[in-house]
Amino acid sequence: MKITIFGTGYVGLVTGACLADVGHDVVCMDVDQAKIDKLIGGQIPIYEPGLEPIVKHNAEAGRLSFTTDTEAAVAHGELQFIAVGTPPDEDGSADLQYVLAVARAIGQHMDGYKVVVDKSTVPVGTGDKVRDAVRAELDRRGLELDFDVVSNPEFLKEGAAINDFMKPDRIVVGTDSDRARELLRETYYPFNRNHDRMIFMDIRSAELTKYAANAMLATKISFMNEIANLSERLGADVEAVRRGIGSDPRIGYHFIYPGCGYGGSCFPKDVQALARTAAGCDYEARLLNAVESVNLSQKYVLFDKVSHYFQGQLDGKVIAVWGLSFKPNTDDMREAPSRALMEALWKAGAKVQAFDPEAMSETQRIYGDQDGLTLCGTKEQALKGADALVICTEWKEFRSPDFASIAATLSEPVVFDGRNLYEADMLSRHGLIYYAIGRGRNQ
Ligand code: NAD
Repeated sequence: MKITIFGTGYVGLVTGACLADVGHDVVCMDVDQAKIDKLIGGQIPIYEPGLEPIVKHNAEAGRLSFTTDTEAAVAHGELQFIAVGTPPDEDGSADLQYVLAVARAIGQHMDGYKVVVDKSTVPVGTGDKVRDAVRAELDRRGLELDFDVVSNPEFLKEGAAINDFMKPDRIVVGTDSDRARELLRETYYPFNRNHDRMIFMDIRSAELTKYAANAMLATKISFMNEIANLSERLGADVEAVRRGIGSDPRIGYHFIYPGCGYGGSCFPKDVQALARTAAGCDYEARLLNAVESVNLSQKYVLFDKVSHYFQGQLDGKVIAVWGLSFKPNTDDMREAPSRALMEALWKAGAKVQAFDPEAMSETQRIYGDQDGLTLCGTKEQALKGADALVICTEWKEFRSPDFASIAATLSEPVVFDGRNLYEADMLSRHGLIYYAIGRGRNQ
């Protein structure tokens, strides 16, 4: 099938590459000329495991191409996927300017039936706005062309995006059109062979499904962080509590890890946006507001522990930070807990020596020549001359480091672990003092 994707970010590029990989003829369009130039030159602008060979292979096979030409992009696909960003507005609601710009562009250039498929995460009611935007452009051109609008929210996880797209748990499609329904079924047929993963519903329910999923996951994290904070005050070990509750199949072990707060481009903005949507229909989303507020303070828990350890005297201290991306296997730094930590450390006069396996150039792009930031080539280099080590992201390579050498290198043998990677006994054998999240009174 002929498919156009607007937006070549994490979602758009993965969607385009995976659809091309099963044989569809895909054009990816982006307004960012530099991104498109890179893609045309065979470079992948983001770090996502497994994405590069798929993009290369399908581009070479002529099934995947990249352009900044809106008119050509609209002309190409019978299906027009919108996968552009929906960042938070000033008040936390989703900013729809990019989504609606694409809808208008489609209306400006289409010359026959199109299915406009919204893959971006958008508030309930956006399907109507997209329909109105397309229709307004057609009216302006004096044309009466048939088109359908579909909501097809994306559930992929950065870091595991290819597998999530290729083997989805579910494919949610919100539509009121039989024609669009059949086209979407055909598009996703190769991903839906083992058993039927397609869940059809109305557009509003599909739009809400995406927010509900992310809000539920964020709620699990904030809930566990609250239990972790309580554990510290009550002398309990949240890791034991986690295993204790996870064994109940109604709760399960997934997504109940305590830590230094959730980040990324989705949970923070989606929880906020859903709460603003609720406020917009005179409903106070008390649970969602609490989830957000627990997370905002959780992002400062590591700083508070470091500051407490050094008795508030952080001026001139050098802190090694391992892990900058908001989670492992991505270079995405949006809303990453590491940023809250580093910014608080700089404010307190401390210096940061940071290492991340993939997010170094993204950190460089965001903080440039920030005073008090040294980007280090290895995790060992980050320790040299440092007073303490803080771990923000659970990259695999941090799981079994050389503890003896950490103890010998740091001026104070202390590790603050925002992801509960180790056991206190293990570290104390090497002479290290260990602070984790929610693990008893000494925390
Ligand atoms: P992103 O910021 O990585 O990419 C968005 C891209 O859209 C950018 O390259 C930008 O240049 C491009 N763009 C902006 N305006 C455009 C236009 N008019 N025409 C063409 N391209 C345009 O965003 P993302 O992380 O891929 O997220 C996209 C959407 O998918 C968001 O709504 C997000 O909430 C949702 N989502 C993201 C994830 C994720 O893990 N990142 C997962 C599921 C859903």
